[in-house]
Amino acid sequence: LEKKLKGCFIGSIDQGTTSTRFLIFDGVGNPVAQHQVEFTQKYPHPGWHEQDPREILDSVGTCIQEATAQFVSQGHRISDIAAIGITNQRETTVVWDTVTGEPLYNAIAWPDTRTGALVRELKSHKDADKLQEICGLPLSTYPSSVKLLWLLRHVHAVKDAYAEGRLTFGTVDTWLLHWLNGGMEKNHHVTDTTNASRTMFMNLHTLQYDDRLMEFFGLDKEKLHLPRIVPSSCPKSFGVVARGPLKGIRIAGCLGDQSAALVGQQGFTPGAAKNTYGTGCFLLYNVGEKPVMSNHGLLATVAYDFGGSMRVAYALEGSIAVAGSAVKFLSNNLGFFEKSHQIGELAAEVEDNGGCVFVTAFSGLFAPYWIDDAKGTIFGITQYTERGHIARATLEATCFQTKAILDAMELDSGHQLKQLAVDGGMSNSDLCMQTQANIIGIPVDRPAMRETTSLGAAIAAGFAVGIWEKFAELKEINQKNRTDFQPNISEAKRAEMFERWQRAVSMCRGWLD
Ligand code: ADP
Repeated sequence: LEKKLKGCFIGSIDQGTTSTRFLIFDGVGNPVAQHQVEFTQKYPHPGWHEQDPREILDSVGTCIQEATAQFVSQGHRISDIAAIGITNQRETTVVWDTVTGEPLYNAIAWPDTRTGALVRELKSHKDADKLQEICGLPLSTYPSSVKLLWLLRHVHAVKDAYAEGRLTFGTVDTWLLHWLNGGMEKNHHVTDTTNASRTMFMNLHTLQYDDRLMEFFGLDKEKLHLPRIVPSSCPKSFGVVARGPLKGIRIAGCLGDQSAALVGQQGFTPGAAKNTYGTGCFLLYNVGEKPVMSNHGLLATVAYDFGGSMRVAYALEGSIAVAGSAVKFLSNNLGFFEKSHQIGELAAEVEDNGGCVFVTAFSGLFAPYWIDDAKGTIFGITQYTERGHIARATLEATCFQTKAILDAMELDSGHQLKQLAVDGGMSNSDLCMQTQANIIGIPVDRPAMRETTSLGAAIAAGFAVGIWEKFAELKEINQKNRTDFQPNISEAKRAEMFERWQRAVSMCRGWLD
């Protein structure tokens, strides 16, 4: 196998919520070249979160330029790159003019809550409670559907384009594919099943758009150019890079970021799970070949879809809207420290949270609570409180929500997780991961190479072009030097901490805008 993979490389575009990366992996899953750039997050009003679609493209272009230059300087040729994969922030909604290919508004990012009132209105419709059975998602501010509806109601250019039949909708994968294929390539207006499963337009059972969903949102498929839904791993559907250093290279894999992380962590068997601590935090639990609809506040979603003879895998998902973004908030908005990693030092200045609980509900609360009108709230502040306590409480907020999600997961699946595989920016914090192990009472298992999201997209592309054929061939990848965080507090202490958190959650709802 080593011989077969020699001189064989795969590129991976990872377009995340706050930054973009391009990595080049060798045939045994090691990154050999990489570049990352942050891009602008716009918060024009409370609850609004936008990004410039052109800046997203520029960031991808810069990362490709820089990483390929590194790659070439190591003595490789670009033609050694067998294929590239794409992974992306999910739900974020882009609309563009079918005729010119130009965006008609900023991208509305997934944590944006401007649709709160719209969601309340939609929930009062008679068919509102039938949607989740079809698409796996409850009505909330989170999916793309409500973002698109807001754009149609409030932005003239979008309204006009729709009326004239030249409105194109896409999640970020579709926007990137549109651009990578040259900008006007109609055949490659596509999305993969994992991304499509986040729109609320796709039937989770048939993996196609569902007329009942389109009707519920009042959308006419004739007037709206929806991307074709294809498997996450396929040699033809995603096209070929049309310009720049990667010109001529095939795009063969495409997965939403959380699906890619599950693939990168090799969560291929039912019962496998991973938790990714990025801007938000997302726990995906593989449930196998049939979707499981949650009764406890989780989402049902496509885990990955390798196409051909491989069966699609589904997941139960626990989505936490705010994780690393709360670390950024302490730094950017409150000036607690300069760099995200410094939260670890600040939190280590104190022994515990000093009685503080921070419900970081900046976008309401997602799973398993789904409280749209919750707002960020710090409980338990006294004259004793220091910045270190708040830093700790900030890290703990994600750990508590993960615990609530694991409890829900256990109720839905009937299985108890034995350990939790983790990755993402915030998993760099040892203190945070130790806290996580303590709060959930099972070991936390962290790989040394934490670019698992990028790796997942590379794996999807690698399968499509025949680098790998079976999941078993991957089993050596990224297994060395993993860190194991063992719980080290008592059951009673764990229960007491979680009870305080649950109490805080029950008190943070209903704040009026
Ligand atoms: P995304 O793909 O969502 O943009 P990343 O996985 O790149 O996210 O993670 C970035 C997030 O992780 C940022 O919000 C940042 O604040 C946080 N982060 C990065 N390093 C650390 C650290 N050492 N401790 C805590 N948080 C961190």
